[in-house]
Amino acid sequence: MSHPLLDLPPLTADRFAAIERRVAALLATEQDVVITQGEALLPLEGCIRAGARPGSTALNVITGPYGQTFGNWLRDCGATVVDLEVPFHTAVTADRIGEALERNPEIDFVSLVHAEAATGNTNPVAEIGEVVRAHGALFHLDAVASVGAEPVLPDAWGVDLCVISAQKAMGGPAGVSAVSVSTRAWERFAANPAAPRRSYLSLLDWKERWIDAGRTALPHAPAQLEMLALEACLERIEAAGLDTLMARHASAAAATRAGALALGGGLEPYVYEAKDAAPVATTLRAPAGVDAAELVAAALAADPSLPLAAGGGALAKEMVRVNHYGPDADRAVVEASLTALGAALTELTGSAADVPAARRAVTATWT
Ligand SMILES: *Cc1c(COP(=O)(O)O)cnc(C)c1O
Repeated sequence: MSHPLLDLPPLTADRFAAIERRVAALLATEQDVVITQGEALLPLEGCIRAGARPGSTALNVITGPYGQTFGNWLRDCGATVVDLEVPFHTAVTADRIGEALERNPEIDFVSLVHAEAATGNTNPVAEIGEVVRAHGALFHLDAVASVGAEPVLPDAWGVDLCVISAQKAMGGPAGVSAVSVSTRAWERFAANPAAPRRSYLSLLDWKERWIDAGRTALPHAPAQLEMLALEACLERIEAAGLDTLMARHASAAAATRAGALALGGGLEPYVYEAKDAAPVATTLRAPAGVDAAELVAAALAADPSLPLAAGGGALAKEMVRVNHYGPDADRAVVEASLTALGAALTELTGSAADVPAARRAVTATWT
């Protein structure tokens, strides 16, 4: 019996290389793009373990839970870590990063998360890139939650390591990811005796065995299904247009913010200022006395297909997330999400949320 997911011909090196070129085009980068066959944590850990070493000093910018994870890896590599943490309801500024670099001129590695799906904020990478470039540190960026939702331009911004994954705004698979690597970053990796080699975490292995060998023979059997899904996802983005996809995310975020406020009942944007709010997901603060996880559970009971989640870990009680990933960056989905949240608020608090006002706010905001 044949099956659409089984018995496929092997994915060729040519096709793998073609998918890499499409990822490079998506990022408008001339740098080497390596597709990494695992969830985004694979290239993120690979970059940090190759880029950081004893004797190096890293600036780790923490604007959400991922920054905390990266700080642990950096310390684990023996680097001295300067943590720069900002409250999760805001974004870091280029000025704050500039001050940290001035105070610690020995910093040679900067790790930043572009947008945080977990907290709903986004950082001004273009401005930050200028400051980092002037200082000369290697610039590592987690763009997993921004790619597809807002511009990600590693070359224009001076990003040396730009990690992306298809599972958020690209609306694609979770089991494959990619990183663009600058010449400077390759040199840094090569000069680091502790950089992973002959290891699944090794980007240098891919450079040696795949890129420098002319991309003719794959070092391992490719993750066939994930690669086909990534290809399909890139095709869908190219057909719709990246600008259109980003505009839909921006509209979804703006409409969700406005709609949540219009609902009344105390639901508020978690990220204070709209300019700091990520287009990939809108985080909301549950009203005082309402448990966010209970609110989300009540909304999902009405429609389990809605892209709603409570915050992770300690944020579960206070944060509601409305995800706008890929196809969910859609006006009908935003309206349905606000309607369900409104009904759940009414159910839990006994006072009516203004769903018609939320719908009007969506109409007025969607561009
Ligand atoms: C989603 C996301 C990742 C990927 O991690 P998962 O926990 O597996 O989803 C990495 N970085 C950021 C900033 C993300 O938002």
